[in-house]
Amino acid sequence: MDQSSGIETSDRAPLPSVDRVLATDAARVATERFGRPATVASVRARIAEARPAWRAGAAIDVSPDRIAAIALARLESEDVPSQRRVINLTGTVLHTNLGRALIAEEAIAAVTAAMRHPTSLEFRLSDGQRGERDDHVRGLLRELTGAEDAVAVNNNAAAVLLTLNSLSEGRETIVSRGELIEIGGAFRMPSIMKRAGARLVEVGTTNRTHVADYADAIGPETALLMKVHPSNYRIEGFTKEVRAAELAPLARERGLPLVDDLGSGVLVDLSHYGLERERTVQDAVADGADLVTFSGDKLLGGPQAGLVVGRADLVKRLAKNHLKRALRLDKLRLAALEATLKLYRDPDRLTERLPTLALLSRPADQLKALAGRLKRAVEAAVGPAYGVETVDLASQIGSGALPLAQIPSGGLAISAPGESGAALLRLAAAFRSLSVPVIGRIAEDRLLLDLRALDDEEALLASLRELKAAMAGEAPSCG
Ligand SMILES: *Cc1c(COP(=O)(O)O)cnc(C)c1O
Repeated sequence: MDQSSGIETSDRAPLPSVDRVLATDAARVATERFGRPATVASVRARIAEARPAWRAGAAIDVSPDRIAAIALARLESEDVPSQRRVINLTGTVLHTNLGRALIAEEAIAAVTAAMRHPTSLEFRLSDGQRGERDDHVRGLLRELTGAEDAVAVNNNAAAVLLTLNSLSEGRETIVSRGELIEIGGAFRMPSIMKRAGARLVEVGTTNRTHVADYADAIGPETALLMKVHPSNYRIEGFTKEVRAAELAPLARERGLPLVDDLGSGVLVDLSHYGLERERTVQDAVADGADLVTFSGDKLLGGPQAGLVVGRADLVKRLAKNHLKRALRLDKLRLAALEATLKLYRDPDRLTERLPTLALLSRPADQLKALAGRLKRAVEAAVGPAYGVETVDLASQIGSGALPLAQIPSGGLAISAPGESGAALLRLAAAFRSLSVPVIGRIAEDRLLLDLRALDDEEALLASLRELKAAMAGEAPSCG
């Protein structure tokens, strides 16, 4: 029943019926795109929203066309995906909040094929028997790291959890106080240990730990010795860290496994790419770590995953743990991981094919030249109220790799002369509200756009054109 009919007393247009709104062109477009039930519900809701103001006599447009247009616009805005593509100009290449590593084209193709078709995920094509899903990456991980065996799980937090639970449940794990880290997203090493059922034995002091500290702590309850990469900080000054190579002989002598949680897990010597050298997975294996844990989507440049490589007898204990079932990878990520690892067989072409390495190794000069080319477009987009200059910047790798490494970069700095931070916050919000949002960072009263992690110049230019139109349509808020 249409309640709007019959109560009309003035010469104002009545509220239209749902059927009249559905007969408009906009409603037909909405029905085509979103289906009839959603369109009817949206039209009904828009009529209901208009009713109080219309009853109160407000001069609002309640024509069927107008209501249909609003209903269509609302359906469109509700249809925008929640997880959206963005342009990362934060200066942090492996930004955890922005999804870390971009996947190589080869891996994207492998994932697409695995999504669309059945696969030999756990099926041995050679004899038709049931196979092991990790076999798709086990050989590659052995070949690339020099380890005897490997397992793959959901992420590195899961790799650490599985390792500790498999080897140290109800028993002691010895860790240096200087390595009891917390990294973002509530990953605290002591909490993970507790969840794994391992009892933590802290040795040394915050800044100094010696081999003797580990040796003195070993007792009948000790299950393993552990090292953790202090991913997001560094202790400077009067410090002493026991390196894995120094700890390995002690572990061997006492018959205890040494676990090395590397965090980022790089497989190449970064100094070949103009970066600081970071200890590689191969280094950790060669140093005598019995198990090494690392992430798939940090410097490795693959999908989210946690990898454990090391001694075959220990890896077998992890693989047999029932927790593994809850932490395992699906066929999509295994496909991406296999394809990504294969790229490492051809190190000469790695920078071309692995986006993470491509972004990290872009020369600063190239980024500064790019900043120069983009300056006009940014100026045009933000309008005369804001100042834009090209600046030298320092990018970070992110996700706990070389936490202090500053990679020279280039970009643009936007300032709002004579205004408080409010104008910059408004501008940052405008950049975030675009169809393809642009994410910069605010520092020292400027909005910085670091170009190191820019993966698509055309998309940025399109976003800048959209921003220009949005800013021009807005009443100027400052002089
Ligand atoms: C990043 C990191 C983790 C957690 O890895 P995720 O893949 O994010 O689960 C664990 N340990 C260290 C040392 C790390 O840097």
